[in-house]
Amino acid sequence: MSPSYPDEIFRSKVRADPKLRVSELIDRVGRVTRGLQFVNGLSPAQWEALRYTSRANRYSTSPTALAKFLGTTKGTISQTLISLEKKGYLQRLRDERDRRSIRLEVTPAGWRLLERDPLLEIDKAVACLPAHEKEALFDGLSRMLRDVQRKLGGNEFGVCEECSLFSAENTPGAPDNAYRCGLTSEAISDDETQRICINFKSPDKRA
Ligand code: SF4
Repeated sequence: MSPSYPDEIFRSKVRADPKLRVSELIDRVGRVTRGLQFVNGLSPAQWEALRYTSRANRYSTSPTALAKFLGTTKGTISQTLISLEKKGYLQRLRDERDRRSIRLEVTPAGWRLLERDPLLEIDKAVACLPAHEKEALFDGLSRMLRDVQRKLGGNEFGVCEECSLFSAENTPGAPDNAYRCGLTSEAISDDETQRICINFKSPDKRA
């Protein structure tokens, strides 16, 4: 009996190239991580907003930056922020560098809640993998995410220390700051090297 059309599709799309199943795995992991985040009275979007704000650098703490990071609209983010503020986990403050702008800040209660971040379950599972698999997973997923983001035209976002504009040169006149941002020429503190930036430019930018 000749195979039916769906069988042929299955063989050509899945069996013929098992690597194609990576996209399905990523989707499954996404569903699992989303399911984990309906705890402590928060939704996955509220957890993501809280987590991002706790890690964002000084250029990236506005509601607009958060909306871009989550790939959502300012209106949706506004509702998320109102909920987090009502629960006492996050606050919106006037930015001292630009009084017209708003910056987000995690409250002490928000920091305590983050100690119970449900994604720690995923971290525990990753910690069980051999070191070379963890490294390959991190590198491969990071590169794939940047490629997809680039094609979609969004901001890359990334950790300052890994940015192509990051400089480990000493900043003249700022002895406490050993690092410098090549975009703004401002000093970067040790703590900020590990923070997420909206202006991040990957070193592996490919045509
Ligand atoms: S070096 Fe890159 S990631 Fe760091 S602050 Fe500057 S633009 Fe942002």
